[in-house]
Amino acid sequence: MAVRKTLQIGDPLLKNNNLTIKNFNDQKIKRVVKDLRDTMIKNDLIGLSAPQIGYNFKIFITQPRKTKARKLPKGDMLRVYINPKIVKFSKSENIIYEGCGSVMNGNLFGPVKRPKEITIVAFDEKKGKFQIRCDGILARVIQHEYDHMSGVEFTEKICDYKKLMAREFYIKNVRNSKEQLEASNITIVEYKKL
Ligand SMILES: [Zn+2]
Repeated sequence: MAVRKTLQIGDPLLKNNNLTIKNFNDQKIKRVVKDLRDTMIKNDLIGLSAPQIGYNFKIFITQPRKTKARKLPKGDMLRVYINPKIVKFSKSENIIYEGCGSVMNGNLFGPVKRPKEITIVAFDEKKGKFQIRCDGILARVIQHEYDHMSGVEFTEKICDYKKLMAREFYIKNVRNSKEQLEASNITIVEYKKL
C-alpha cells in the first residue's frame, strides 16, 4: 500500500503540464494507479488525479461510493482514465457542491455549476479504449478530475462564493438535502469498448 501525500493548492506541480501516456507497458502506470487508489480510499475521496499526488501524467480515477460524508443510493465501481478526453457536454447544467483533497485537505466545499451529463473517451490501464456517457455524481467527479489534467481547481469555478463552507457544515446541512441527493443520482446512459 502506498498512500501518498496529497499536494495542496499553491503547489506548482498542480499547475504543471501533464504528460500523455505513450507506453502502456511502463511499470510506472501500475504504480500511479495503485497509489491513486490507496490515497483516495485513505482520504475518503471519490476521485483523485495523478498530479495531485505528484505524478504529472494524464491519469485519474473515480469511485463514487459510500464514504463518511456520502450516502449514495447507488454507487459506482473503480474506474481508471488514461489520456482522457471529454467529447460531449450536455447543455443542461446543475449545481453540486464540490470539495477536493488538494484544497484544505478536503475541508472546504462550495457550489459549482457544470453540465449535467458528459461523454468521455479514455483508456484503462490495460490500454483498453472505452467510452462512457453518464450523469449524476459520476459525471461531476469526472469533470472535476478532468480539470486537474489542465491544472484547473474547482475553487476557480465556484458559482456563489457566499456559499463556501467547511466540510462539517456541508455534511450537516447540504450533503443530504433533497436537491443534492437528486443531482447526485448516477445514470450510466451508455458504456462501450472502442
Ligand atoms: Zn480535486
